[in-house]
Amino acid sequence: MLELKNVHKSFGRNEVLKGVDISVEKGDVVVILGPSGSGKTTLLRSINFLEKADKGTIVFGDIEAKLENASKHDIRAIRKKSAFVFQNYNLFHNRTALQNVTEGLIVARKVPKAEAVEKARKALDKVGLSDRYDYYPSQLSGGQQQRVGIARAIAVNPDVILFDEPTSALDPELIGEVLNVMKELAKEGTTMIVVTHEMTFAQEVANKVIFMDGGVVVEEGPPGEIFTRPKEERTKQFLRRII
Ligand code: ADP
Repeated sequence: MLELKNVHKSFGRNEVLKGVDISVEKGDVVVILGPSGSGKTTLLRSINFLEKADKGTIVFGDIEAKLENASKHDIRAIRKKSAFVFQNYNLFHNRTALQNVTEGLIVARKVPKAEAVEKARKALDKVGLSDRYDYYPSQLSGGQQQRVGIARAIAVNPDVILFDEPTSALDPELIGEVLNVMKELAKEGTTMIVVTHEMTFAQEVANKVIFMDGGVVVEEGPPGEIFTRPKEERTKQFLRRII
């Protein structure tokens, strides 16, 4: 469904992605692991052109484009097929939970207002916020704000949801409620790519784990393999440190 080939990206002299390939099937829950600075977020952001890669190819459903010079038309089409969940939620502070979810539907996808409101309510219900439609972000806990972020992503019914360390800004006691929502989405067959340090989530929910280090994919496989019998020394070291 989604393939990235030979992705390269530098920031100045800092070569952050050095020829990364990944491939994602429909229904996959892919977790990308790796030490801080290994290029995970940059890779995720380059999928929907939040970051412009220097080189590489993306194949997303029926679209194939060069990451470095994709047409506006292809970029728009790829953005429509994907939704991004940010580490810091990225909500509009002067809009309610409901308005945060309807905004993208109405503005970017031209969904009529009444239909957008209905879709937004359904998405908020799904993440357990049916009693918070009219709350502003400042009136919500971090976990609730991130659930609004997830509702905003599911409301547009994307082919894939990209999660960039969705729980890393949260107090420990709020992480579970966000991971539970993500688990539910996974159970329903939502295709997800998740950059996270939550090892239990990776072990229990992912069907594919990609370990990155130094701008390359070092190793990938089902969690049962990566966590219990990693092949590469760098993977072993990382897991020893983190688990
Ligand atoms: P990870 O998600 O694995 O922690 P990132 O993709 O966030 O890694 O970052 C990889 C490297 O790229 C880091 O050295 C980071 O400082 C650098 N980097 C990321 N974004 C930018 C940017 N916008 N400008 C300059 N350097 C950046």
